Amino acid sequence: MNIVSNFVKNSDSISTSTSTSNINNAKVLRNTPQRQVVLKVVRESMDHPTAETIFERARELDPNISVATVYRNLGILFQKGEINQIALPFGACHYDFNLAQHYHFYCNACNSVEDIIAKDVENKSFQGLKDKLDMPKYVINGCELIFTGLCPNCSN
Ligand SMILES: [Zn+2]
Ligand SMILES: [Zn+2]
Repeated sequence: MNIVSNFVKNSDSISTSTSTSNINNAKVLRNTPQRQVVLKVVRESMDHPTAETIFERARELDPNISVATVYRNLGILFQKGEINQIALPFGACHYDFNLAQHYHFYCNACNSVEDIIAKDVENKSFQGLKDKLDMPKYVINGCELIFTGLCPNCSN
């Protein structure tokens, strides 16, 4: 409710602004509460949701939020390093509040994304995997590793 009333307040300030710089400032302010809604949804989602799912959840907090606003703010939050984006080679991007390097499992049947659970901590870390590579002339600073198959719900 606070988020919605802040949004309305900031919209009012746009209509009273006349100079270009005031409009730009107001635009930044207007975007902030909705960006906070998007961030809150991602941080409270344990299931690596897609932008579409995040939009559905954000709309419960702010009925005025648009799908375009959700997509735009997810991009901004990812660029700012506040959320993680899991770019699958197929289908929609999934989002993750967990910024630590970790790998994922993707279910081909229900499109769910989960964190990989591994017994050997070294092997599931990026550094552990990187140490085994034989590519001395390469600067390697990232890794996308996605296991695919069926989750327990879908394999029965
Ligand atoms: Zn599944
Ligand atoms: Zn994750």
